[in-house]
Amino acid sequence: MKKQSEEIVISGSTISEGIAIGKLFLLSSGEEIMVPQFAIQETEVDSEIERYRDALSSSRIDLKKLQTFLTDEGSDEAVTIIDAHIQMLEDPLMTTHVEEKISQMLQNTESVFRSVIGEYEEKFEKIEDTFFHQRLIDVKDLSHRILKHLHPKEEEEVIPANAVVFAKELVPSHTAEACVSKVCAFISEIGGATSHAALIARAKGLPYVANIKEADIKEIEGCLVIVDGIDGKVILNPNIDTQEKYTRLQNSILESVQRKVASLPKETITLDGQKIVMAANIEGISDFDHPYFGAAEEIGLFRSEFLFLKKEIFATSEEEQHSLYHKIFDRAGDMPIVFRVLDIGGDKGFFQDAMQDEPNPALGCRAIRFLLKNKELFTRQLKALLRAAQGKKASILIPLVTDVSEVIEVKTLLNDIKEEFDAKRIPYAKEVPIGLMIEVPSAVLTADALAKECDFFSIGTNDLVQYTLALDRTNPMLSEHYHPAHPSILKLLKMVIDVAKKHHKKLSICGEMASNPLYTKLLLGLGVKNFSCAPRHIPKVQSKLLELNSEEAAVFARKVLKLEQFNEIEKALREDLID
Ligand code: PEP
Ligand code: MG
Repeated sequence: MKKQSEEIVISGSTISEGIAIGKLFLLSSGEEIMVPQFAIQETEVDSEIERYRDALSSSRIDLKKLQTFLTDEGSDEAVTIIDAHIQMLEDPLMTTHVEEKISQMLQNTESVFRSVIGEYEEKFEKIEDTFFHQRLIDVKDLSHRILKHLHPKEEEEVIPANAVVFAKELVPSHTAEACVSKVCAFISEIGGATSHAALIARAKGLPYVANIKEADIKEIEGCLVIVDGIDGKVILNPNIDTQEKYTRLQNSILESVQRKVASLPKETITLDGQKIVMAANIEGISDFDHPYFGAAEEIGLFRSEFLFLKKEIFATSEEEQHSLYHKIFDRAGDMPIVFRVLDIGGDKGFFQDAMQDEPNPALGCRAIRFLLKNKELFTRQLKALLRAAQGKKASILIPLVTDVSEVIEVKTLLNDIKEEFDAKRIPYAKEVPIGLMIEVPSAVLTADALAKECDFFSIGTNDLVQYTLALDRTNPMLSEHYHPAHPSILKLLKMVIDVAKKHHKKLSICGEMASNPLYTKLLLGLGVKNFSCAPRHIPKVQSKLLELNSEEAAVFARKVLKLEQFNEIEKALREDLID
């Protein structure tokens, strides 16, 4: 038994580079799930098969949710790997074969499933080939997920914050599900550099060291551990000197990433000299520290509702909001910042003190509708905002506009506030541009009237897709129907871009479509010159724009606009991307 305080250095091999300091957490979820085994009657076969199908469909929902999370994180490789798991759920091994075995063996589903997978594992374990080994791990991972649905544990394992996770053999789900804010690194006994778990760890930028024997660390769960993914070692119970040395190393790695960002071109200019603005979508002060934030020229969307996640929104005073916004504008410095007023309700209905139960929240009291029904709350935010924006390049963005009357009402409210401030000699920003989020078809169809009442448009494709295709953006079961490049969306985009051009209004795109290089050429070709996305996506979109010619992109967009089916459009976009 090792002494708790002793520093121990164990050499392994680097799978994913980086340095992390955290608490050791031994993952037990790779362990065998104990399942009951009993005979069933022929009359019970159908219900056992039904139970199996339910477990497959719950697993599918899990994986779809995981993909949405990974897409938000920008881990594209991880999304593809999880896709393979989703496809495996349709493999005859997982479907018809298991169902036939339940009827033949006349045993409960879990035990039949375990025996089918056991046979499969035995067959593939003998083959010494990395491809087959990886396939085997994926099957084990997936079968573990299915078994958990067939036989749920009473309590799910909760990974503590800042955990260094150890598993004998990491499977893709472990690394994919490790929320970056919680898990800081991985260690395993078995594991190769080309495993799917390794690819995912690298995509997430989490250090991972393998070849560390379980027996060497088993007894010291919870101790401080340094994962050195540069030299391929793990240091248990590091002393103060070692901790300081590695903290310095972590800082110098961060500085070198920042230097790399600083070396990116300051401006995004296409091959034919078209200037494009790359802006960042941010949600809180910590986003300013993202290594790729420095690659943004502007803040194209500040989602203010995220500032109130842990606060009672109705109880946050004007003064509290003023000091919060002041801090944000200070951090933005000279950068233009588009500040979106509270977009709450719908999928963002996370404010218990503000929201009422509604039969259909997505079509309910959301965003500007909610604010205009809660004028006292809205006025407080606008007052704090106008005061904090003094001397800053800030503009106000109104979410989910559906009608021009809403814009007129907001402008009246702003004028009333300004008159009050003038009368009381309270300093505030006099000229704050007003922008409208174009996120519903009615806004696109009335864009001419809206343009006359505002300074700029920002297209929120996340909601525009939801409200045009009548499809809940948060429902993982519908994700296969969520097509940002659906012909209807492209028509709407073209309409609103043309209206902005006609009225000489600035237009940007801040929905997820702006962060996916698959759509970059098309959007450029449609006339988008301002792309706003989460900092982690900026380098890839910027690199894509740097290799494009806007004239050629316009020809491409015209060709794509003629296509009538979303699958033809998606095919054309994919083919062009790999061309
Ligand atoms: C959008 O709808 O595209 C958007 C950017 O807003 P949010 O995702 O915050 O609703
Ligand atoms: Mg939106």
